[in-house]
Amino acid sequence: MAIRYNRRMLSEFQLIERYFHRAPRPAGPVRLGVGDDCALLQIPAGETLAVSTDMLVEGRHFFTGADPHALGHKTLAVNLSDLAAIGARPLGFTLAISLPSADAEWLHAFSTGLLALADLHQIELVGGDTTRGPLNLCVTVLGSVPESAAIRRNGARPGDEIWVSGSLGDAKLALSALLGEISLTGDQLSLASERLHRPTPRNALGLALRGIATAAIDVSDGLLGDLGHILKQSDAGAVIHADELPYGLALSRRDPEQRRALALNGGDDYELCFCAPASRHDAVLDAGRQSHTEVTCIGRLRAEPGVQLLDASGRTLALMNQSFDHFTS
Ligand code: ADP
Ligand code: MG
Repeated sequence: MAIRYNRRMLSEFQLIERYFHRAPRPAGPVRLGVGDDCALLQIPAGETLAVSTDMLVEGRHFFTGADPHALGHKTLAVNLSDLAAIGARPLGFTLAISLPSADAEWLHAFSTGLLALADLHQIELVGGDTTRGPLNLCVTVLGSVPESAAIRRNGARPGDEIWVSGSLGDAKLALSALLGEISLTGDQLSLASERLHRPTPRNALGLALRGIATAAIDVSDGLLGDLGHILKQSDAGAVIHADELPYGLALSRRDPEQRRALALNGGDDYELCFCAPASRHDAVLDAGRQSHTEVTCIGRLRAEPGVQLLDASGRTLALMNQSFDHFTS
């Protein structure tokens, strides 16, 4: 099918060739990339393939008119984040894209944002599908990990410490401001928006945590909800220290209760939440240093189910778990 392009027609294949086709790196894992019936990738000997898909839908995950360069970045970032969370090394990715029209300026900015992040992680776009329709962006990432080194959600044990990378809450703060629910100064909005629109996947940390973390997840739907998946699969509960949470920079002027709610329930952080035995505390700090990623210990797992939130003086704080769910929110 030909897609309309600036008063003349750009065919689907010209569009793919112009924006999404680049020569694969000679030394990389890609033996055959865009342009054939399938891509061929060489998985490192003895490793297992890690696969994950995440889709961004206009009006659901991003606003109509969203900056296409940032959208390109985020489409890949949220997928890389899943590889980080299981400790897999990224190999490549595919892109299934549905577009209302072939807008050259939009496609240029989108593909530039997407491929810049791919270059940063030294991975290739190896294939995909292109169709006309409502704006919808779907990436499938491919990675590899020795099976025994994969950091699953079910490996944590009572007594393990709970850690979070980077900081929490800014992305949700930006979203609330963009929806008109709260107002922010220009500086706060640009700080928070950067976190919402250009999340940093923590792949170097995920790799450094192999052999140290007992369980991990990336925080996409809010810390409490995502930690809840680890707790459920590892059959444990948790004690969290509210004053230890790494609050995002833009949260500094919010009142303590709102700050807490944003850090615990805000989504779109794309940080890693992971557990490790207390005896590996220093090893986690080393992994953070090695990967140039801040890591903060926020609590501990316990055998008793449920989550208890404590303030600095050890008093229990009320919890409102409002993790995001597409079918109930
Ligand atoms: P098929 O007819 O087998 O589905 P297509 O005509 O859809 O193949 O695609 C032609 C080639 O271009 C394939 O190698 C496919 O993987 C690749 N491709 C299609 N869309 C994209 C895209 N958005 N990004 C990268 N590669 C793509
Ligand atoms: Mg196709």
